[in-house]
Amino acid sequence: MIVLGIEGTAWNLSASLVNDDTVLYEVSAPYVPGSGGIHPREAAQHFASNITGVVRQALSSTDISSIDGVAFSQGPGLGPCLRIVGTAARALSLRLRVPLVGVNHCIAHIEVERWKTDLSDPIVLYVSGANSQILSYRDQRYRIIGETLDIGVGNCIDKLARSAGFSHPGGPTVEKLARRSHNYVPLPYVVKGMDLSFSGLITAAKQALKSVCVDDVCFSFQETAFSMLVEVTERALSQTGKSKLLLAGGVGANIRLQQMLSVMCEERGARFYPPKLEYLQDNGAMIAYTGLLMLKHGVHTPLEMSGANPNFRPDEVEVLWINN
Ligand code: AMP
Ligand code: MG
Repeated sequence: MIVLGIEGTAWNLSASLVNDDTVLYEVSAPYVPGSGGIHPREAAQHFASNITGVVRQALSSTDISSIDGVAFSQGPGLGPCLRIVGTAARALSLRLRVPLVGVNHCIAHIEVERWKTDLSDPIVLYVSGANSQILSYRDQRYRIIGETLDIGVGNCIDKLARSAGFSHPGGPTVEKLARRSHNYVPLPYVVKGMDLSFSGLITAAKQALKSVCVDDVCFSFQETAFSMLVEVTERALSQTGKSKLLLAGGVGANIRLQQMLSVMCEERGARFYPPKLEYLQDNGAMIAYTGLLMLKHGVHTPLEMSGANPNFRPDEVEVLWINN
C-alpha cells in the first residue's frame, strides 16, 4: 500500500509518500515568521501559496495510479492552516478516487517513532509548541495521563526567546544560551499530580530577564521546566509498570531534556534512546504512515466528517492497529 500524507498544523507544510516499509519521498516548505511568533493567518497564506508545488513535487516522484489513499493532519493545530491542508486532501482524494483519512497529529508523532524504533507499548512524553502530554496506550486508545493545564512547553520557550530579543523558533537559541550557565535562579515549579502548569514559570522567567543575565535565565528555565516533565514522566512509568519511554515533538530535540530523561530511565531500568530529529519535528511521513495504518484497518474519513478539528485530542481516536 502507498499513502500520500500532508502535514500542516502550524509551521511545516510537508507532503510525503510512504509504503509499509519505508518513506518513499518527502518534501517540505516550512513557514518562517518574519518577526514575532507564528501568525495563524500568515502561516495559512504561506501554506496556500506553497501547497500546489509541494503536492505536485510529491506526486511527480511516483506513478499516481499506485497511490491507495490520501491522509492529512486534521488537528490539533491552527484552524486556518488545517483548512488549507484539508481542502487540498479532499480535492486529491476525489481526483485520485482513493479514500481520504484524517489523522490526529499527536498520534502521528507517536506512530512514526514506533515504526522507526522497536519501542512497543511505551510511555510517551509528547512535548511540542502547543502540546505537553504524557500518554499511555490501553484498550484501543492512547490515554492522556498527564498534561499541561495551560500552555505548551515549546510555546513557553518561544515566548522566553522572543522576550530576550531572539527570533522564532526559540528552542535552539534557549538551549545554546543555557549551556553557557550553571547559575540556577529559583523559578516556579508547578506540578499538580500528573499535570503541569507553565504560565507562572514563563511570567517569572520573563521578569527575571530584567535583573539576571539571559544565560542564567535560560539555564534556570530549562532546569525547572524539564525537571517538571521528568517528574511526571517517571510517575507515569511507575504507575503503569511500563518500562519504555518514547519522546516525541519538537522540544524533544533538546539535548538537556534527553540527558535528564536518560538518567531517570537508567536509574529505574527503563529503556529510552533519543529519537531522530527528522521524526521529532513535524513531518509529512508521520501523517502518511499513520494514515496507512488506519486505512489498513478499515478506517477512512467521509467528506462530511473531514473538517478541521483544531482541538482534536489523541484520546478521541480509536486505535484499531494495536492488538493487545
Ligand atoms: P513542534 O510543534 O513539534 O514542531 O515543535 C516546535 C517547538 O519545538 C517550538 O516551540 C520550538 O521552539 C521547539 N524546539 C525546537 N528545537 C528545540 C530545542 N533544541 N530545545 C527546545 N525546544 C525546541
Ligand atoms: Mg508536532
